[in-house]
Amino acid sequence: MTKRPILIHPDPRLKTAATPVGEITDEVRRLADDMLETMYDAPGIGLAAPQVGVLKRVLVMDCVKDEGEAPRPLVLCDPEIVWTSDARNVYEEGCLSIPDQYAEVERPAEVEVRWTDLEGGARRERFDGLWATCVQHEIDHLDGKLFIDYLKPLKRQMITRKMQKLKREKARA
Ligand SMILES: [Zn+2]
Repeated sequence: MTKRPILIHPDPRLKTAATPVGEITDEVRRLADDMLETMYDAPGIGLAAPQVGVLKRVLVMDCVKDEGEAPRPLVLCDPEIVWTSDARNVYEEGCLSIPDQYAEVERPAEVEVRWTDLEGGARRERFDGLWATCVQHEIDHLDGKLFIDYLKPLKRQMITRKMQKLKREKARA
């Protein structure tokens, strides 16, 4: 497993819709392994392939928060939301591509997602709580959408300017 660099907003690759994986190849499995390593190292609870510059529909997540609880790494290839609850939930979201910026985003409280696992099997699961927010946030990444796209333009621009400044400082360092 290799840690991969995470792209920081703004970056055109974060605004691009990713293409379906289709068949699960060794390359896809390697990508998923690297993404899990990168996510745990960050640390974060979710990561989508475009965030490491790969425009494929792959995401990883593990929303287990309890120290004593066993980790539950999930890899979703070509995920698709097949059902959303009418009930909605507000979570303060953050993003590894938008470091140290948080904002409340309202989304469906529960979603049912269909995807392909790394063995090529068809999977289907209903997510709630933090898992539901996380999976929707990551699927948005596959469509070139960021959580700040849900915010008012002024707030979004403020965050984008902060990120541009951060990138300039990083480039100089
Ligand atoms: Zn994100």
